[in-house]
Amino acid sequence: MATAVTCLLAAAVFTLSGCATSGPGEAPSQPPVSGSAAARQPVTILISIDGFRDDYLRRGVSPTLSRLAAAGVTGIMHPSFPSKTFPNHWTLVTGLRPDRHGIVGNRMEASERKEVFTMATDDPWWWDAAPPVWVDAEKAGIRTAAMFWPGANVAFGGASGPTGTRPSDWVPYNQAVNDSQRVNTVLDWLRRPEEIRPSFVTLYFDKVDAAGHLHGPDGAQTTQAVAEVDAAIGTLVAGLKALGQPANLVIVADHGMAATSSERTIALDTLVDPSRYHLVETGTFASLAPLSGAAEEVERSLLVPHEHMQCWRKADIPARFHYGSNPRIPPILCLAEPGWLILASAPRQPASGGNHGYDNMAPEMNALFIAHGPAFAAGRVLPDFENVDIYPLLRRLIGLPAAAGVDGDGVVFRGVFRGGATPGGD
Ligand code: AMP
Ligand code: ZN
Ligand code: ZN
Repeated sequence: MATAVTCLLAAAVFTLSGCATSGPGEAPSQPPVSGSAAARQPVTILISIDGFRDDYLRRGVSPTLSRLAAAGVTGIMHPSFPSKTFPNHWTLVTGLRPDRHGIVGNRMEASERKEVFTMATDDPWWWDAAPPVWVDAEKAGIRTAAMFWPGANVAFGGASGPTGTRPSDWVPYNQAVNDSQRVNTVLDWLRRPEEIRPSFVTLYFDKVDAAGHLHGPDGAQTTQAVAEVDAAIGTLVAGLKALGQPANLVIVADHGMAATSSERTIALDTLVDPSRYHLVETGTFASLAPLSGAAEEVERSLLVPHEHMQCWRKADIPARFHYGSNPRIPPILCLAEPGWLILASAPRQPASGGNHGYDNMAPEMNALFIAHGPAFAAGRVLPDFENVDIYPLLRRLIGLPAAAGVDGDGVVFRGVFRGGATPGGD
């Protein structure tokens, strides 16, 4: 039922060729396994490959992704600031930048809460500022499922009401669930009878980010992780084809990765007495609050030119970052030059690896984007765009009406739809 609604809406928007029965980009070469498969409507699958910098696609180890890009739509996508995992995953599914959706860092503190927000926090209070796309879909009767996504375990709206909304199917985050188990879970969901089959699915892979942190973006292990995730997506594409399940795949990364080294660090305790401020986050940026009576002293030391780092009062953060008005952002932000790290004190051991969180327009932070499926024309390369545009795209693919008041308009996708429908206007 829900999928039928989706198809009708999607067909109205995209002038799709009747929500066709072709597989992801190709006509099925063999008859579908189930007798009713010919009636299957396209599912939208949002795939995040955490930390997949756009240029990883050109390492020659990702044949599936290259094929999907060539037969679909691709382009460089800029993350939102800060180029961290949780802020950007929430932007991708809400269309708002972190300053507005409230997940302003991977670690947060708030005067209203004793508990610190970490990546394990599922208290809806932290998340409730903006509904993710699956909440609107569920409320519209469109079934959704999450094979991991930051925030998909949160009972959205639960802070202000007795109950919250989660995807109909979701899985608690656990890195030990391997890539093929993740893919098989998605395929199992799509094997279900139509009444309980999702129309929108998220799928998340962490290993490219993990390898990038440990071995750096140029490490052989990072390239190997790219190859492994590509193979997993190849299994997904083959599984969809075998099911006769048409799919619009939207494949994204939350940010890129820059090489870091213990030789490129800024030790905050060499600039200001560490007893004079409270640190909230350190790394590619540092956010901190001067302690009572210490604001002038801390500002005098930090709000001056530094090599490889710039600090601002939150109200003075350059407008292009769209960051600084949320109460969860501490009073002072220091941002490192890509490749540099801001630490509480100098590192004790030599180390090298990779990190992200830098200026969201830095080329090292460029993220992967590929869209492929019956909704999309083939062979389109987009001009650079920002990740706030993904949410309007998802709403259209899922069959939800355009949302007002979000930060992305999806106009960049004008002209990429099969049948020529434009995303900006109906
Ligand atoms: P970052 O520090 O920005 O690189 O964050 C990446 C980390 O986020 C990875 O180590 C993932 O294991 C973790 N992560 C991704 N999704 C989730 C989730 N849904 N819940 C908890 N942690 C997650
Ligand atoms: Zn990430
Ligand atoms: Zn990371």
